[in-house]
Amino acid sequence: MIRFDLAGRSAIVTGANTGIGRAIAVGLAQAGADIVGVGRSTMTETEADVVSTGRRFVSVTADLSKSGIGAKVIAEALAAGAAPDILVNNAGIIRRADAIEFTEEDWDAVLDTNLKSVFFLCQAFAKAAIAAGRPAKIINIASLLSFQGGIRVPSYTAAKSGLAGLTKLMANEWAAKGINVNAIAPGYVETNNTAALRADAERNADILKRIPAGRWAQPDDIVGAAVFLAAPASDYIHGTILPVDGGWLAR
Ligand code: NAD
Repeated sequence: MIRFDLAGRSAIVTGANTGIGRAIAVGLAQAGADIVGVGRSTMTETEADVVSTGRRFVSVTADLSKSGIGAKVIAEALAAGAAPDILVNNAGIIRRADAIEFTEEDWDAVLDTNLKSVFFLCQAFAKAAIAAGRPAKIINIASLLSFQGGIRVPSYTAAKSGLAGLTKLMANEWAAKGINVNAIAPGYVETNNTAALRADAERNADILKRIPAGRWAQPDDIVGAAVFLAAPASDYIHGTILPVDGGWLAR
């Protein structure tokens, strides 16, 4: 068996147009998977990169902050020819403000996108995988704030800590049904999500000082873990939250 081969598999990747999602979509395609990219707008660059690997790319347009969207996205992906093999829940947002003045709007926006829609995407995907009788892999993109408190990001910490718990719950319920549910917790990655941190010289220096690897991650640094958790190599791994953080949590 080739333990990291994804040939003949389909992967649904949310938020595949930028950052970590784009890198993971292209990395899974390089390992042999066809890709369904889910996002609010078209993803011409991701599509071009995936197609250049020889794999198929289909996009599904969806706003994952909306109620009832999970089942619709999975139905559309399957209608477009995808199989329920691999689901990467990567789409996410962050809102920054002091906890003392954090608004309900910033709470709901982050919880709806980063936690609620992820659960219902997983639920619809798992139903399809069980019905198809195929082994399947779910990979949730968690965060260091699945382990730590963070600062000025209360709804993000709540969502990512909740996502870690949910990953374990779904693993417990679905492992025996042939579905591996795991998460990746990226450290500090250079993407839109962290632009504000990098723009703050003092914060940036503090962060860099604490990372044993001595540098921020690039989106590509996250891809190996995603291929691993999508591939047969991880068939006996359930409910783990795998940090890819340059050693941050080891400090
Ligand atoms: P990013 O802003 O480049 O990517 C976020 C993606 O989610 C984008 O493609 C965006 O279009 C999509 N998205 C956001 N809201 C959406 C919605 N309502 N509907 C559909 N798509 C939506 O940032 P990123 O850093 O690549 O973030 C990807 C994931 O990684 C997020 O879940 C983020 O929380 C997580 N993460 C990032 C870091 C980091 O340091 N950058 C660290 C840990 C975790």
